[in-house]
Amino acid sequence: MEISRLKLSGFKSFVEPAELRVERGLTGVVGPNGCGKSNLLEAIRWVMGENSPKSMRSGGMEDVIFAGTETRPPRDFAEVVLQAKDDEGEELEVTRRIERGAGSAYRVNGRDVRAKDVALTFADAATGAHSPALVSQGKIAQVIAAKPAERRQMLEEAAGIAGLHVRRKDAESKLRSTEKNLERLEDLMAGLD
Ligand code: ATP
Repeated sequence: MEISRLKLSGFKSFVEPAELRVERGLTGVVGPNGCGKSNLLEAIRWVMGENSPKSMRSGGMEDVIFAGTETRPPRDFAEVVLQAKDDEGEELEVTRRIERGAGSAYRVNGRDVRAKDVALTFADAATGAHSPALVSQGKIAQVIAAKPAERRQMLEEAAGIAGLHVRRKDAESKLRSTEKNLERLEDLMAGLD
């Protein structure tokens, strides 16, 4: 997957709509301390379905919404749009929007989808909010200190098989509920005899 564009509005320090084009090759973002460089990486992880406020350096998920300054009022929503090309060269546009008191909503190519669909889309393309390709500050030290099970999880994300675990869990839970239904049906049928 190749990210081509990132659009932000009301996300953390990006109060005004901002657009970042990612050209082929190397794209660098430079700026003084605190200007929002890490917020850009967090925006990428957030639109890919990150659901841990802690890894967004936030107390709660709504904290990603522009909180206001002495001169500017806070916003009541944040939106991030990520444009990319998938491995087949198809255009992909993913939008995540959060409104105060209303939680997050996702769209893929203009269609409303669930958070899980977005996470699976990226996991299948061997990327996503926890992809080892997104290296934030402190991440290297974290990899070095990681337990074997955590390292295995990182390798699975990199290999694009993390989505399979989610699907296996889904399938197992469907199987369990079908087995329960079957048991109920058998009880009912026994009652009819
Ligand atoms: P450094 O080089 O020091 O790591 P940086 O360029 O990576 O800095 P960030 O950490 O991305 O900067 O941005 C921090 C800035 O974002 C701070 O000024 C902080 O006040 C601002 N910020 C974070 N969340 C919000 C928010 N919800 N509303 C407004 N501003 C925010």
